Amino acid sequence: MKQRRSILSVFTLTLAVVLGAALLSDLGGKPTEAGNADFTGTGRVVIRDASMVLTMDPSLGEGPLGALADADVVLEGSKIKQVGKDLETGDARVVDGRGKIVLPGFVDLHNHLWQSLIRGCAADKELIGWLGKCVIPLYRAPVTDADAYAGTKLAAADVVSTGITTVTEWSHAFNTDFAKGGLRALGESKLRFLYSYNGTTDPALQNEIRRVKREVIDPNPLARLQIGTHPSTGNFPSVEASEKLARELGVPLNVHLLESKADLTAGQMDALRRANALHPGLMTNHVIQTTDADLDELAAAGVSVAHNPLSNMRLASGVIRLPEMKKRNMKVGLGLDGGTNDTSDMFNVMRAAVGLQRATTADPAVYPTTSDVLRMATLGGAEALGMDKEIGSLTPGKRADLQVVDAQAVNFAPKVDWVNQLVFNTQPVNVSWVFVDGRALKREGRVVGLDTAKVVADAQAAADRIKKLLPQ
Ligand SMILES: [Zn+2]
Repeated sequence: MKQRRSILSVFTLTLAVVLGAALLSDLGGKPTEAGNADFTGTGRVVIRDASMVLTMDPSLGEGPLGALADADVVLEGSKIKQVGKDLETGDARVVDGRGKIVLPGFVDLHNHLWQSLIRGCAADKELIGWLGKCVIPLYRAPVTDADAYAGTKLAAADVVSTGITTVTEWSHAFNTDFAKGGLRALGESKLRFLYSYNGTTDPALQNEIRRVKREVIDPNPLARLQIGTHPSTGNFPSVEASEKLARELGVPLNVHLLESKADLTAGQMDALRRANALHPGLMTNHVIQTTDADLDELAAAGVSVAHNPLSNMRLASGVIRLPEMKKRNMKVGLGLDGGTNDTSDMFNVMRAAVGLQRATTADPAVYPTTSDVLRMATLGGAEALGMDKEIGSLTPGKRADLQVVDAQAVNFAPKVDWVNQLVFNTQPVNVSWVFVDGRALKREGRVVGLDTAKVVADAQAAADRIKKLLPQ
């Protein structure tokens, strides 16, 4: 009997140790009091002893990226409360930062999330051929709320996985139901997002856009509206109407500009000029096929630029003139640009942004350096959106949008120069935590609340429907 009791107590002790270990790994650090915040954007969280923190705020740390070693990052509710060494954090929930790098979440300036449904489509075509085969036919096709929802849901999870915390969705909004499906998935994602709804000369559709702003965007603190349009001589009435609606609603216009050689004869700059759209706040995507005079005019107008290097490579669009933009102090950030990327990987986007300029100039010191491109992907993107007072750096008081990268993975270790390694070595799988507004969207390497099998099955069904609507 005595022996049985001691076996029982050994068993109980083992169970307690196992449960304790499970609790430890669940919290990513030492256990804390029950009842504290559960990484949902309430209460206090500390990322403890992070081996490196890139604050992107030079006043908080060393160098242009404001780097700190072995520091804590404290989140209070939806905001960053404090960054520094050995901070007093009371009963905060703990994420173990040892061996990890903390940096702001990426700002994706340009995407078409629904295009996850056309991944791999027409890989041998340039921009116009690809659009003709994979996108344009859908304007006249019965695409649905369910299609947009499924594609956006899949891509939103992929975007979270790569450390993006703010995404700009230039929705093609093929019809109002399609827009609703995309917006629903974005709302559920808990990402910070900007939804660019296509402007129009149709009064009924303009009213629908006003309704979407009032009823869907404005009540969601994570959401912003933009008005999308495609500037060209032939499309001028719509460009003018879109700019007017954007001004009425107090939101930016968002356009594809000088992306491929085909755009050179479309009268794009002239259409923007005539619509009085060239002013600060205008978001322009790509801006590759430019003359010096174009860049001078865009810089003087104070417009923002989204650089999407993987898309530009995939669609044979050309190479953006980043060093010339830098000389003109233009606001440039990075974007994935939807299905043309075929996957969401902001680290790959940074590598491509650096690599394209080096390959073009045969100059390894050409702009951007690894440090420049990390800034572009974070604070640079926030500046391009005019949101740098809220996001883009780990400055206390800003929204708690950040990511934690595991530097101990086989594709990343050993430590040599972590800033360079973040650009050249990192893969989305190395992002272990992603917080948006203080809420963990990725936790210990897994996207929170994601039913992968269902999301993939729904996306497959939608992709099969879409494929039937496209020319074979
Ligand atoms: Zn695009």
